[in-house]
Amino acid sequence: MFFAGGLQAHAATWSARALPTKLVNGAPVLFQVKTPARLDSLTGTWLDHKIIFSFDAATKTWFALAGVSLETAPGTYALELSGERSATGATAKALSFTRKFTVAQAKYPKIKVKLSVEHKFTEPTPEQLQQIEEARKIKQDYLNRVTPDREWSGKFATPAQAEISDVFGSQRVFNDKTSSPHLGLDFRVPSGTPVAAMNDGTVLLARPLYYEGNFVVLNHGQGLLSLYLHLSEFKVKEGDTVKRGQEIGLSGGTGRATGPHLHVAVRWQGTYLDPARLLQLQLP
Ligand SMILES: [Zn+2]
Repeated sequence: MFFAGGLQAHAATWSARALPTKLVNGAPVLFQVKTPARLDSLTGTWLDHKIIFSFDAATKTWFALAGVSLETAPGTYALELSGERSATGATAKALSFTRKFTVAQAKYPKIKVKLSVEHKFTEPTPEQLQQIEEARKIKQDYLNRVTPDREWSGKFATPAQAEISDVFGSQRVFNDKTSSPHLGLDFRVPSGTPVAAMNDGTVLLARPLYYEGNFVVLNHGQGLLSLYLHLSEFKVKEGDTVKRGQEIGLSGGTGRATGPHLHVAVRWQGTYLDPARLLQLQLP
């Protein structure tokens, strides 16, 4: 009797966990939440971002994909959860729960390199400066969009079957100066290699931009975007719906690229996350 009572009490509590269990800056994180009562909706606040949870009926678990920005300092941060039940008279009320998670410092490599980039990228002409400014405005407008519905489902898939030539977060050191960190993942592929969508989504951008070259951005919903740069050819257009694994373009070396390669990036609500860590995550 005592034991049964204990189990009941346990079922009436919240649980919130993170995958992977160790959180680091620059990484995506899957939050999984069990609630003490059936809810109609669950939202959360994490590092000043709003997150919307989905319910997995099979495991009776709420889940949401979020992230920790590269700039987030090591420390302890709260995930604040707020659930709602449909009004059933006096018993209707909002439920809330807070769980703290520790964020550790990730180790990203520093690489000494000689950069060889075309002159037009280091000393742009007035005309090029105008193109750069136009591209900046387009990115400012599109890359910070957050749509409410989740479009991704299941594990993210690699955009190309190829060797990694540069990892996320690496910093190039040239002439004793440390450049800004590399905010994507580079695949060593020759020009003309098919590039696949990492998950289901909608084509947000498919157009040439100054630095990015032929640029495809997929919207996976709730502020999660995947970006594919330097393409030689587009296989989709803006507004198209795509499925994971679908060919969205061919790799190339357009824009600011030292040679043909595929640079992919993952953005979550305005911040870049490590694509390699996203590819490793087991997702519902
Ligand atoms: Zn890159």
